[in-house]
Amino acid sequence: MSARILLSLLMVCCFSVVATAFDTVVIDAGHGGKDPGSVWKPHYEKTLCLDVSKRLNTALKAKGFKTVMTRSVDTYVELSDRAAIANKYPGAIFVSIHFNANLDRTVRGFETHYRSDRGKLLAESIQAAMKKSVPSKSRGIDWEDLKVLRETKGPAVLVECGFISSRTESSDCGSWKHRQMIADAIASGIAAVKGKL
Ligand SMILES: [Zn+2]
Repeated sequence: MSARILLSLLMVCCFSVVATAFDTVVIDAGHGGKDPGSVWKPHYEKTLCLDVSKRLNTALKAKGFKTVMTRSVDTYVELSDRAAIANKYPGAIFVSIHFNANLDRTVRGFETHYRSDRGKLLAESIQAAMKKSVPSKSRGIDWEDLKVLRETKGPAVLVECGFISSRTESSDCGSWKHRQMIADAIASGIAAVKGKL
C-alpha cells in the first residue's frame, strides 16, 4: 500500500471519528399540554417528564454538551415535530424521557427503548448507568418501533424512567431527589458513549 493511499485511509478514519463524536443532545420531554401521558394521581406523566428533562439539560450542560429541548414548558408538540427538531441537528443524539404506568401495581423499574444499531449502543450505556445508581429495578433495553425513534435520523432512545402506578416506585417518582438521580444517571450514560457511537 502506498503512503498516499494509507494517508487517505487515515483521513477517512479520522473524519468518521469526528462525525460520530456528537456534542449535541436533543432532549425530548414526553407528552405535554393537552396530552398528559399516563395519569396516576397525584402524578401526571407529562410533568415528571419535563422535570427530569430540565434536570438532564442542566447535567449535560455541566458536562460540556450542547442541548436542545423539544419543549421546555407544558405545551403539546406533535411526535413528528419532535423528530423534525432533532433532524435539524445532524450530529445530535435524541433522548426522549417518559414515565410508565400499568394496572398491575407490582410492575416497576426503568427501561430504555431503541430502534437503530447506534441507538442500541446509547440505550445500553444509559441503562447500565441507571442500573448503577438508580435504586429501582432494571427492566433492560428493548427494540421498539416507536414513531419518534423511527423518524429521528441520528442515534435515538426513549427512556421510561419508572412506573408512577407502582406501589413501591410511585413515591420515588414524586421525589425530586430520585428524579435528580435519574437525570444524572442518564447524563453519565450519554457521556460514556461520546465518541463511540
Ligand atoms: Zn409516555
